[in-house]
Amino acid sequence: MITGIHHVTAITSNAQNNIDFYAGILGLRLVKKTVNFDAPEVYHFYYGDTTGTPGTVLTFFPYKGLVNGRHGKGMLNTTTFSVAMSSMDFWLKRLDRFNISYKQPQERFEGEAVVYFEDEDGLGLELVFNDKDTRTGYTKGHIPPEHAIKGFYSVEIWEDGYERTAGLLTEQLDHKLIAEKGNRFRYAAKDAPGNYVDILCMPDSLKGLAGSGTVHHIAFATADRQSQELVRRKIAQRMLNPTPVLDRNYFTSVYFREPGGVLFEVATEGPGFAIDESPEHLGEALKLPPQFEPKRQQLEAALEPVTMNLDKYR
Ligand code: ZN
Repeated sequence: MITGIHHVTAITSNAQNNIDFYAGILGLRLVKKTVNFDAPEVYHFYYGDTTGTPGTVLTFFPYKGLVNGRHGKGMLNTTTFSVAMSSMDFWLKRLDRFNISYKQPQERFEGEAVVYFEDEDGLGLELVFNDKDTRTGYTKGHIPPEHAIKGFYSVEIWEDGYERTAGLLTEQLDHKLIAEKGNRFRYAAKDAPGNYVDILCMPDSLKGLAGSGTVHHIAFATADRQSQELVRRKIAQRMLNPTPVLDRNYFTSVYFREPGGVLFEVATEGPGFAIDESPEHLGEALKLPPQFEPKRQQLEAALEPVTMNLDKYR
């Protein structure tokens, strides 16, 4: 069983700018500073709510100086964060204060006012102002608690047509069609903010190109190893060649490419980010999985130093 969205992972060209933008300007909590387990000389940053609850976690691989990718078909182009409707004034002023240009609020589905903007790499982001999200987000940071980002609201995937990806979502990944409007088809495993997957039919768009400012993959959540194995079997039956189960320390993962070209992952909800540091100190130290601990000195020398000085974002 899939229970919703787990995390979204994107690529950035600048580690320090990335921390400043997501922990500083957006006020998300850096819940884990580790390395890419498949390329340990590259960082892996996880941002989310207080504990890094599935459905709130945006992660990055910083590849210094990497050229920009391009939004387009076969790619997850926009990640949308949920905030209270009454926070619109606060956030538009905040975007202005940090010289982030944005599109004027637009209604998407009823009760959703959406504002599009991008990070410094051009990653597509939105704030959706709404009154149906009961989550609180990271309330111990420098953003006033009532205005804190609550987590994801939705993600937006562009495809030639929606049917093949929709078939996978509904037949193997426990999603249902929640809403549709024009070329937008909204699916969710659970009809609640944090879980909406919007597929946009964009036949005239160019194909997306991987690079800085693009999403690497989206992970869907499943309860545990047992349910993950069941989902993996269904993916294999659909001939989508899932990877074996991989240990990511904070969860286990299975990856496969959906028919439109987006890399999907199925990740377990646990054990979570408090497995190797205390909940009060999440994200403060560089954490390495056991297999890389013997190489800590070399890895620390290869990784550029980053700081968490957020004073100017208060
Ligand atoms: Zn992942």
